[in-house]
Amino acid sequence: MGRRRRRGPSTDAIHGDGHRPSPGEPIVPPIVQSSTFAGGFGRNEELLYTRYGNNPTQTAVGRKIAELEGMEAGAVLGSGMGAIAMTLLALTTRGDHIVASSHLYGATRRFLEEELPRRGVTTTFVDPERGAWRRATRKSTRLIYFETPTNPTLQIVDPRPLAQLAQERGLMLVMDATFATPVLMRPGEFGVDVVLHSATKYLGGHSDLIAGAVAGPTDVIGEVIAMMRYYGPSIDPQTAWLLDRGIRTLAVRMERHVANAAAVADFLDAHDAIDSVLYPGLASHPDHALAAELLTGGFGGMVSFVVKGGGDAADRFMRALKLIHVAPSLGGVESLVSQPRFTSHAGISPARREELGIPDGFVRLSVGIEDEADLIGDLERALGRV
Ligand code: PLP
Repeated sequence: MGRRRRRGPSTDAIHGDGHRPSPGEPIVPPIVQSSTFAGGFGRNEELLYTRYGNNPTQTAVGRKIAELEGMEAGAVLGSGMGAIAMTLLALTTRGDHIVASSHLYGATRRFLEEELPRRGVTTTFVDPERGAWRRATRKSTRLIYFETPTNPTLQIVDPRPLAQLAQERGLMLVMDATFATPVLMRPGEFGVDVVLHSATKYLGGHSDLIAGAVAGPTDVIGEVIAMMRYYGPSIDPQTAWLLDRGIRTLAVRMERHVANAAAVADFLDAHDAIDSVLYPGLASHPDHALAAELLTGGFGGMVSFVVKGGGDAADRFMRALKLIHVAPSLGGVESLVSQPRFTSHAGISPARREELGIPDGFVRLSVGIEDEADLIGDLERALGRV
């Protein structure tokens, strides 16, 4: 008998939780708004208290994430940082060492740099462009940690050589796939062991919730949940339900994010007021070929660009926008624009930012799912004010 065909991401996003209502039961999984559950005779202990996991609302969304990622198990937590922190705590102990990409979300980097050392866990950062991963590993290394695409320059880090190194040395390969989503890329197919998401972004998709997700081997997810029980960044049932509602339309939203982002990137690339555009779908992007291999579901919804004239010009451009909101975060249905010099890279000197490829005038756009012509109209008008 042949192997069962894998279901597609649109189907998994809707049915991946395994919810099969019997006659008379609701098609939409209910919100079980209860902090505690009947029992306490030593059976089914996990389901007794919502900090441990809420059945079925939270546990069902965890299963759905696992299906979407093609992993054994999954869990959802109260925030992306909750998922990241609990995973790193679950995978390390005093004396352990981590090798991490230097291109990381700021709070993750600070957690590795400032918080984990207080628990006796140290990190060596590797510039993914230089790629000295092997040299950075030690006897005490337990895991390799990276993001792709990266924020805000949208670089693509190839997981395959990292997976090979991890396998040779018996390490876990952990990836934050917030920008990729399980629709654009399935990291597990490229050797990643554990996948993390800020579900606040594309998975939720409507800028109305804070949540995190993790998928990986059953024993790892069990340990993440054990950490969640101690530290408490559990998700409440309302938010888990809202996240599930968002995930149902993930695949169709991503199609539109990708189509709009490609159109916006082409428009900006041809505009006189723009110095350069970074979009993995553009042939000019340094990692375009790699992106085409890895991002099999599309090049994503994030576009970064540099406005000619530096920071003042970027400020004028952003003030002139009428449709696109100026705000941090990403992945929602509405387009959002921000300048990393005021957000993720605010604490870094202009010279160092320049070295990182983020000169003043650099703008990051999370392209929403509005009508393409309206987005381009807004950008065109605002660029006319620069
Ligand atoms: N990872 C990435 C790549 C992010 O962009 C963010 C938030 O911006 C996080 C993790 C943290 O997620 P949360 O804000 O849901 O805690």
